[in-house]
Amino acid sequence: MTLPLEILSEALQSGDTSAEALLSAMRSRVDNIEGKVRAFVNTHFSEAYPKAKHMDHLRKKGEPLGSLAGIPIAIKDNICVKGMPTTCSSEILKNYRPPYNATVVEKLEAAGAIIVGKTNMDEFAMGSSTENSAFFNTRNPWNLERVPGGSSGGSAAAVAAGEAVFALGSDTGGSIRQPASFCGIVGLKPTYGRVSRYGLVAFGSSLDQIGPLTRSVKDAAIVLGVIAGHDPKDSTCSTLPVPDYTAGLNKDIRGCKLAVPKELYENPGVEESVRKSFDEALKTYQALGASCEFISMKSFDYALSTYYVIAPAEASSNLERYDGVRYGLRVPADTLKAMICNSRSKGFGQEVKRRILTGVFVLSAGYYDAYYLKAQQVRTLITREYNEAFKRFDAIITPTAPTVAFEIGEKSSDPIAMYLSDIMTIPVNMAGLPSISIPCGFSAGLPIGLQITGKAFEEAALLKIAYAFEQATEYHKKEPDVPSVSASEE
Ligand code: GLN
Repeated sequence: MTLPLEILSEALQSGDTSAEALLSAMRSRVDNIEGKVRAFVNTHFSEAYPKAKHMDHLRKKGEPLGSLAGIPIAIKDNICVKGMPTTCSSEILKNYRPPYNATVVEKLEAAGAIIVGKTNMDEFAMGSSTENSAFFNTRNPWNLERVPGGSSGGSAAAVAAGEAVFALGSDTGGSIRQPASFCGIVGLKPTYGRVSRYGLVAFGSSLDQIGPLTRSVKDAAIVLGVIAGHDPKDSTCSTLPVPDYTAGLNKDIRGCKLAVPKELYENPGVEESVRKSFDEALKTYQALGASCEFISMKSFDYALSTYYVIAPAEASSNLERYDGVRYGLRVPADTLKAMICNSRSKGFGQEVKRRILTGVFVLSAGYYDAYYLKAQQVRTLITREYNEAFKRFDAIITPTAPTVAFEIGEKSSDPIAMYLSDIMTIPVNMAGLPSISIPCGFSAGLPIGLQITGKAFEEAALLKIAYAFEQATEYHKKEPDVPSVSASEE
């Protein structure tokens, strides 16, 4: 049940399977293992069945169907789907049902995809392990004692475990790529502005981007083609035309120039097994005719600190709307001020409060220049360094994360240790670039990811470089062996 979208679409088109059969298979998979993995905050199979049947009916009649017709998918629970709860894995939005669809959801449904559930995440996408969910932990399908990564951990676990053909996630500082790396699948963060953010619950608005978590690079190309494109409802969304991202995948990459930033490669936090797999990946690329050169990107040393000023600043402003008045949790009190205070105190978890406090501090009149303004200046330096590098190179490659999936509970009491797991992914968001994580190895049965970052709006070139590696290696073919929930455990 972990076949990629490209194969399943063909099977649907040729009549080898039906949307209904595919949905039933997905449902029994979910019934079998979800009690162990816990990828979903809620599932929606009963609404999905009539849609699948309708799709089969149209296909039989020979009606033209969208490219995702009958494909069961999952959506991170910070992306609005009309009528389904959108909780952001937070108490404050626990009972919120959006009255509208996110633009990406409109596009996926127009292409025929069928949403089977909303996936667990770190509360408001703040975290790297999905342990900040207010509801429960999601487990890594490769080892149930380990985290799936985060914040899109539910989406990554669902795809890796065969509970959805693909899923959408959001990436503010690595939340698509790092869980993809931990769960052994493909995760693509598109260029900032390539995909509409309308209907994505805002965290850091200048950093957030929606993207796919898939089982293959080609699948990522197919899904990006569906969700990308201009949206008048998001003023930061680009008007550039959307190319066919699958068209050039097969082209060879001889002469392609790859750069490895020393600052990240030499980071002492990088585990030996990760470094080894990464070195192997460099050799694979060289064998494919690409060149790999180590370069220095000094500003990267400051990227993490800069992110933890800018992202909380934006979050503190974005989260002001949860006041117990307009929507979400309300804890009654005698005065308006006490009601707002009680609602936010009860509704937000510890990490979210930490971010709000940091955010209002760095934006306060006395500290704005010292922190927020400085961080914005460093952000410009990071962007400049990327621009310089892209004058000479086609892509920048690093491991996606310094480690493999860590144990549940290992870092949850140490925020700084948790923040360090995004050291490789965060610089990319600062510059708004497209970046992909693909499987490049295993250590003690746990997947390792390779991160490739490309030029702005050149996802097609980035996907080609990723595809060449995938075709030359076998890592993406391995599947986790998830034990079923036994009858006695149910
Ligand atoms: N882990 C990072 C954070 O906690 C990034 C999260 C994300 O990309 N949404 O902010």
